[in-house]
Amino acid sequence: MANSTADVVIVGAGFGGMYMLHKLRGLGLKAIVLERATGVGGTWYWNRYPGARCDVESMQYSYSFDPQLQQEWNWSERFASQPEILSYANHVADRLDLRRDIRFETSVTSAAYDEASQRWTVGTEAGDTVTARFCVMATGCLSTSRQPDFPGLSRFKGKTYHTGHWPHEGVDFAGKRVAVIGTGSSAIQAIPVIAKQAALLTVFQRTPNFSIPTRNKPMDGEYEGWWKKDYPQHRAIARTQRAGIINSVNDQSALAVDDAERLRIYEERWSSGGTSFMASFNDLSVNKASNDTAANFVRGKIRAMVKDQAVADILLPHNHPIGTKRICVDSHYYETYNRANVRLVDVRKAPIETITANGVIVGGQEYAADIIVFATGFDAMTGTLVGINPHGRDGATLAEEWEAGPRTYLGLMSAQFPNLFMITGPGSPSVLSNMIVSIEQHVDWVTDCIGYMTSNGLTAIEPRRDAQDAWVEHVNEMAFKTLYPTANSWYMGANIPGKPQVFMPYIGGVGAYRVKCDEIAASGYTGFELNGSQARQAAE
Ligand code: FAD
Ligand code: NAP
Repeated sequence: MANSTADVVIVGAGFGGMYMLHKLRGLGLKAIVLERATGVGGTWYWNRYPGARCDVESMQYSYSFDPQLQQEWNWSERFASQPEILSYANHVADRLDLRRDIRFETSVTSAAYDEASQRWTVGTEAGDTVTARFCVMATGCLSTSRQPDFPGLSRFKGKTYHTGHWPHEGVDFAGKRVAVIGTGSSAIQAIPVIAKQAALLTVFQRTPNFSIPTRNKPMDGEYEGWWKKDYPQHRAIARTQRAGIINSVNDQSALAVDDAERLRIYEERWSSGGTSFMASFNDLSVNKASNDTAANFVRGKIRAMVKDQAVADILLPHNHPIGTKRICVDSHYYETYNRANVRLVDVRKAPIETITANGVIVGGQEYAADIIVFATGFDAMTGTLVGINPHGRDGATLAEEWEAGPRTYLGLMSAQFPNLFMITGPGSPSVLSNMIVSIEQHVDWVTDCIGYMTSNGLTAIEPRRDAQDAWVEHVNEMAFKTLYPTANSWYMGANIPGKPQVFMPYIGGVGAYRVKCDEIAASGYTGFELNGSQARQAAE
């Protein structure tokens, strides 16, 4: 690759980067994608842990831009497994002939803007560069995994794995004593599968989470037919929804109905399964009293599923309103604790002290393990971008600009960084939505913007600082109308020691956010400064 040039350099070949490349080709531009993995798929390439599965229904978690693709592709289950989603990503890459413009095993380590030429130069670990007018960071919100620095880890004689970096050849747990550290979404999916294979499974839980059964099942032909018959119409509706998902929100308060009716509604959602439980009522994320009714219902279910009530007590979440940490979904998670080969260790009061050659020590007791699985999450939303640390105008660096938390205009761009776009960046609905809907919306917006600039002889775009400040304020204001900021979640940056605690995604809803972005574009990009190279030279 050495030193290449392109119109656009894209970092990342997950669903964001793949679609971005396809759209830019449509504008007749030359785009190069740099990807550190050996293949496409992003999240679904890296997170191969047992039980990994989507929590958005298959019929909705897929691209909508290609009518033939969505008709031809058949999902085998209601909620797709990681291998199936990865096959889908590979199928799309083949179908659109994407790989010829993707440089795999290429890790981007720097990005710098040159004001004179109005171009970005992106540098790789191998010392190569790509220079381009525009740079699109399609680097993902959950792509920098995090493994806490447990003392003694280097002494451990067994094998260690992180759910976000799972080996391609898989892991054989048969006859092994396995320790799983963490009980977030990844662990909750992996634990039931590992428990069936391992001789002994010890789960180290610091914070119990709320989890809803998925009721996953083989794809129902009639349901699939219903979607496919009117796919474009269904997709159009999904784009207007709060989370980019059609999941029939019950538009009444949990307090507007009597106890029997409320229970009936929760039971119905519980048995149909999945995250639509959180749409049982319209005020679960804003009204604590309403939220308590849902939380109490789920706590009751946990008690009923777990036979040993002392274990159930440890599993009951009490330190955050339900849904304010990402709601988990599972297949027989709580029942797994009824197995004789599974034990739960509460590390809230007595944290993990050290890792030894043979296991994990908590409260002075050693729990023997041959394998440790870290299901300890990610430096979400900002970790990957700040890791690259783009250098923008006037010596600005992203790490400094975002020192007190991410600052963006619409989650798409940041002041001081002209021509640098982020796909599902902080300040956009991103992780609060069906991510493929949000990815498509951002990629379409960025494509239109670059197309507009190209056809109007414009060479630089950058948000105005006042527009960015107003957006950041709006993002905060919306978040603080809800219960979300009351939880120590990764949405707040609370899982990373020292990370500023700011609610990072935009909670105003996918539909309303799209309207806002479209209005801004239609009005000639209000809040952005657009320049032709001559205009900038004249101003200087
Ligand atoms: P990613 O898929 O993260 O792709 C980013 C790519 O950028 C990666 O391939 C990465 O290797 C590459 N990259 C990053 N930095 C560099 C660098 N410096 N140099 C080179 N390459 C780089 N969302 C949902 O909507 N529903 C779900 O059910 C759901 N389940 C999830 C389950 C798991 C286990 C995880 C971790 C996330 C889940 N998500 C889910 C969120 C998921 O990340 C998105 O749905 C979507 O896949 C993101 O696509 P992306 O292209 O934006 O980012
Ligand atoms: P996570 O939700 O951040 O969970 C990390 C877990 O590790 C938490 O239980 C955390 O405890 C624990 N942990 C971290 N440091 C620890 C320490 N030092 N000692 C003990 N425990 C520690 O990460 P994740 O499970 O990988 O999920 C991240 C996100 O990815 C999800 O929220 C979701 O958006 C997405 N995801 C989705 C699915 C899906 O269902 N489709 C599946 C997996 C992931 P604390 O809570 O106490 O910090």
